[in-house]
Amino acid sequence: MASKKSPPARSRDSWLDHRLWLARAEQVATSPVSKGGSPHPSVRVGAVLVDAKGREIAAASNRFAHGVDRRRPERYQDGSKSLWINCAEQLAMMDAMRRHKKIAGASLYVTLEPCAVCAGMIGELQLANVYVPVGSFRRYAKLKEKWKHSIETGLIKLAESGVRLVSVDAPKIARKKPLRKK
Ligand SMILES: [Zn+2]
Repeated sequence: MASKKSPPARSRDSWLDHRLWLARAEQVATSPVSKGGSPHPSVRVGAVLVDAKGREIAAASNRFAHGVDRRRPERYQDGSKSLWINCAEQLAMMDAMRRHKKIAGASLYVTLEPCAVCAGMIGELQLANVYVPVGSFRRYAKLKEKWKHSIETGLIKLAESGVRLVSVDAPKIARKKPLRKK
């Protein structure tokens, strides 16, 4: 897992904090693979789960699940990647569950809108909020049609589950500001 750094926990609903958490999610995605960063060749996603008190409870990139061999080149081929590489949101939520963290009411910061499968899990776990960068899925020019359809379905599922989806502008600004150590 990437090193533990957190934005300040004091003001929990400020845009600056949302940007800092998204910057943290981006940092998780782009960390070296050996430190939990994403091994995906084109779509590196980071997700950070923050509890209702503004504390980080889990973070993950889209990567191979624990113990699954990421060194095999055939697992990176088109048609295989999505079978072998798990979504960042799923891995972050499972990490929090494995460590018995309180997930209901938490916020998920993720660098790409959740897919339909993740959206179902987010609704089932009764997360309160999902924060994404504005226009996040336009960042990925290579994102295939099936993923666009999946994300659009996911957005509907989040809305029907009562999970608030918030687009946060200009997360790049936050990236220039150093995150404070816990
Ligand atoms: Zn997903």
